[in-house]
Amino acid sequence: AKTAGGDRFVFYTREMTDRAEIRLRLESGLREAVAARSFELVYQPKIEAASGRLTGFEALIRWRHEGAAISPADFIPVAEDTGLIIEIGRWVLEEACRTATRWALDHGPVPVAVNVSARQLADPGFSRLVEQVLQRHGTPARLLELEITETVIMKDVRHHLPTLNRLRALGVRIAIDDFGTGYSSLAYLRQLPVDVLKIDRSFVNDLPHAPDIASTVLALAQRLLLSTVAEGVETAEQRHWLAEAGCDVLQGYLISRPLAAEAAEAMVMTAFAR
Ligand code: C2E
Ligand code: CA
Ligand code: CA
Ligand code: CA
Repeated sequence: AKTAGGDRFVFYTREMTDRAEIRLRLESGLREAVAARSFELVYQPKIEAASGRLTGFEALIRWRHEGAAISPADFIPVAEDTGLIIEIGRWVLEEACRTATRWALDHGPVPVAVNVSARQLADPGFSRLVEQVLQRHGTPARLLELEITETVIMKDVRHHLPTLNRLRALGVRIAIDDFGTGYSSLAYLRQLPVDVLKIDRSFVNDLPHAPDIASTVLALAQRLLLSTVAEGVETAEQRHWLAEAGCDVLQGYLISRPLAAEAAEAMVMTAFAR
């Protein structure tokens, strides 16, 4: 807090100073972590609703800082603001492709989905980066899926469309994440080179008692020939409702929490063992 001349504004309240301090420490910790590559990926399984068969994983970043696990929900926004997301995102992409290639060679092909942030997608070199990473690790493009939130895509469709088209041309799959939370224009959705709609957890959470949004998204996806994933499936009732309603793929704590790479690999091995 600062006062000048005794009668001026107090610019910062105590609480704001604390928050600014926390933020600064997070920022410098994040810079060190980027330099030291001290992140980790965990992998959450996705299964086919009808059969229970493993269909792929979503890679989720983890960071331990000063002995504590910091949630990506807390540090990804900081990484976005500071531009650190570009390097972090590149690391995530590399690590996910390296892992998918290794699993494919050792066990069998299993797609891995990676989250892409607003700033990464807007980066003019993004599609080139994806192409280079796939080449460098010898990863078949169909093993990589990119999850982009509805809000990010729809905020500037015209600007993102060429990038999405280039990515699609590489052969990677594109999923619209957190679908239903933003404002999708139907006209745009039809033009977008996307393969998958991921129904946001908040709507899955409403199942089975308030199924309107989930039903609408599933009907829309069926019309547009898009595949559907329900995220955040936590109860047997939700799973049952989604399977009956024709949702293709399920993901959530009911099926499995995100797993360390070794545990995820054990699932891949089992899926291909016969
Ligand atoms: P998201 O992409 O929507 O990821 C799903 C989040 O829900 C993950 O949280 C996951 O652990 C959690 N989750 C999965 N199943 C359930 C469930 O049944 N119940 C509940 N309550 N939660 C479930 P996480 O790992 O903390 O990630 C949070 C967000 O941080 C992600 O949301 C994503 O937006 C972002 N994020 C995570 N990893 C990355 C990354 O590598 N790059 C970027 N750009 N963003 C990331
Ligand atoms: Ca996601
Ligand atoms: Ca999501
Ligand atoms: Ca979500």
